[in-house]
Amino acid sequence: MKKVAILPGDGIGPEVVAEAVRVLEYLRDEGALGIEMEYGLVGGSAYDVHGQPLPAETLKIAEEADAILLGAVGGPKWEALPIALRPEKALLGLRAALGVFANLRPAVLYPQLADASTLRPDVVTGLDIMIVRELTGGIYFGQPRGVRTLAHGERQGFNTLVYSESEIERVAVRAFEIARTRTRRVCSVDKANVLEATELWREVVTRVAGRYPDVAITHMYVDNAAMQLVRAPKQFDVLVTTNMFGDILSDEAAMLTGSIGMLPSASLNETDRGLYEPIHGSAPDIAGKGIANPLATILSVAMMLRYSLREPSLAARVEKAVSAVLDSGLRTADIRQGGAAAVSTRAMGEAVVSALRSQLS
Ligand code: NAD
Repeated sequence: MKKVAILPGDGIGPEVVAEAVRVLEYLRDEGALGIEMEYGLVGGSAYDVHGQPLPAETLKIAEEADAILLGAVGGPKWEALPIALRPEKALLGLRAALGVFANLRPAVLYPQLADASTLRPDVVTGLDIMIVRELTGGIYFGQPRGVRTLAHGERQGFNTLVYSESEIERVAVRAFEIARTRTRRVCSVDKANVLEATELWREVVTRVAGRYPDVAITHMYVDNAAMQLVRAPKQFDVLVTTNMFGDILSDEAAMLTGSIGMLPSASLNETDRGLYEPIHGSAPDIAGKGIANPLATILSVAMMLRYSLREPSLAARVEKAVSAVLDSGLRTADIRQGGAAAVSTRAMGEAVVSALRSQLS
């Protein structure tokens, strides 16, 4: 029996998570999946009850789980709080506690939604990229850091970009393993011409590549990668990069598909325990209206089935069900084209479950 922690969070988080849970419950009730689920408060909703965004009991539930499903955290209600108490702090706390060093962000364009992209359909149709971003190291965590006052009184801000060989190696291994389940191509992105830390990055990735002779490796400077992603994004299969470069490139890649409500993510540790969440935030502007798109969260469940629960065929079933629902023309407001009617969050979730059910007949 696998344990899944359910952390709905704030804003539209509980609305979209409810539909993803509906999918998990359906698979459980069908007898296809042995799981038990436990709920925890996180973010602003946890602050309101416990006075902190990541209470000890939530952390315990997460640490005992094989996989964690997170909605989203944050909202205007908590924006004035000191940084340490803000909902977003819970994300960093969870990532650090779980040691999830590999952030997987697929950028997939569903053919049914080709018109949603700001790029020409011929540039993005068929797009299927997996960005593997290092998540717990690099310049976001390096010491020393801070703002100091120089002798002549001027202030100077400074951060440190630091990567050890083992940190690079483990995320590179993850990228090559994933490439083996896809079209076997890894592009490693760095700035090896300027930054010594990423010169080492390139050296270690090249060394790891030697253990995967069946996977083609290329290296690209980050400025070129940013350009290539909008020029000819379909050249990429798996893209592996540092924390900061991945932060920027994964948002760029996500936007190629034009729909923030469709994109899932996974963050994995050494043993494949994972934190799964849609890439979007808590969308306070539409919270409580029942109109949010739940597909990014449902597709996060598909990633959970693939990576942490080791049920690749169930993952494929969920992805197929989402595709079938899009084929049927059902759209939430964010992915609607023209004057077509939009369905609610719940109707979209129910449609995915119906599509799963009809796969059996
Ligand atoms: P956002 O992703 O919440 O919203 C951006 C826009 O996209 C909004 O117009 C929103 O209505 C729309 N949108 C987002 N998800 C959607 C969905 N599933 N269906 C339909 N439309 C959707 O980003 P933001 O407005 O910059 O941030 C709002 C809050 O969320 C902030 O407090 C921010 O800190 C937080 N946030 C949290 C996470 C997270 O929990 N991982 C990530 C990003 C932002």
